[in-house]
Amino acid sequence: MKVHILLGPPGSGKGTQAKRLVQQFSLIHLSTGDILRDAVSKETEIGLRAKAIMASGKLVDDQTVNGLVFARLQNETQDVLFDGYPRTLQQAEALEDFLSAKGFVLGLVMNVEVPDGVLEARVVGRRVCSNNACGAIYHVETKPPKQDGVCDLCGSPLKHRSDDTAEAFRSRMDEFDSTFQPLLGFYRGRDTYRAVDGNRAPDMVFETLSRTFKEHA
Ligand SMILES: [Zn+2]
Repeated sequence: MKVHILLGPPGSGKGTQAKRLVQQFSLIHLSTGDILRDAVSKETEIGLRAKAIMASGKLVDDQTVNGLVFARLQNETQDVLFDGYPRTLQQAEALEDFLSAKGFVLGLVMNVEVPDGVLEARVVGRRVCSNNACGAIYHVETKPPKQDGVCDLCGSPLKHRSDDTAEAFRSRMDEFDSTFQPLLGFYRGRDTYRAVDGNRAPDMVFETLSRTFKEHA
């Protein structure tokens, strides 16, 4: 059994790419969120612990996340694609130990790279329909509504969310980088590490990812 990892910053489109990759290559798609929800709904011991941590408003710690992931991997026979895991250096190190103890193999580690400036422009130009039942999303440059500030679908005013300002973006990005850079350092320079240019049309990014997969996985 091989474990492949897809890395990338929030907003890089890696979740969508992961879904297409698992379809094309018959992989198991594992995201930490899904594993967490599954364990909570099955009320496993570790699932209940995670539930209690989340209920207290805290972030689930590395050890608990690792425990959930390893329990899920334990008896897996099909190759796996991780999306959103490992998220920290500590998780990556623990995964490495788990894989070698089980005789599983670390396959490709693909990093979808998008420059910060591009991610910031995507976020800052985003406008969302103020009608929650509609929820349509626009972008002032790449997907403007027909009439300025008005939703094409339901006619409600569009709004600029407070999360979508440059300041909010920067603070999220700084926080992300502080854990992501050490994680990247752990994988970069390995034979199976591949950086992929994510600053292109999604179909082109997918083409590169799937070719990389075909050649190296
Ligand atoms: Zn609308």
